[in-house]
Amino acid sequence: MGSEYRKTMKMRAPRKAVGFMSQHRWARRNMSAYVDDDVSRRQRQRLDEHTSRCAECRRMLRTMVAVVRGLRDLPAPPSSNVGEAVVRRLRKEESDRPPKTARGRR
Ligand SMILES: [Zn+2]
Repeated sequence: MGSEYRKTMKMRAPRKAVGFMSQHRWARRNMSAYVDDDVSRRQRQRLDEHTSRCAECRRMLRTMVAVVRGLRDLPAPPSSNVGEAVVRRLRKEESDRPPKTARGRR
């Protein structure tokens, strides 16, 4: 019952770029699970591979790992899905960056 049949793409799309972007989206979506240690070995490998090539994901992953580690050092961890909460927070920060008019002037 192995239905891992893959459709062959007939379009001449830039395979490399498309692959990277889908890996990138996939990595972002699964990063919280990765940090929560809730991924299979295969998924972990896939994410490792992507972060080795993607500076953006590498940075985000490092931040998340640091935050989650910090939270886990607390006596009572808030929940097992810490990674997800962190992602939500990071996404929020990304979307509401302060406008450039607010310059740090003293
Ligand atoms: Zn990426």
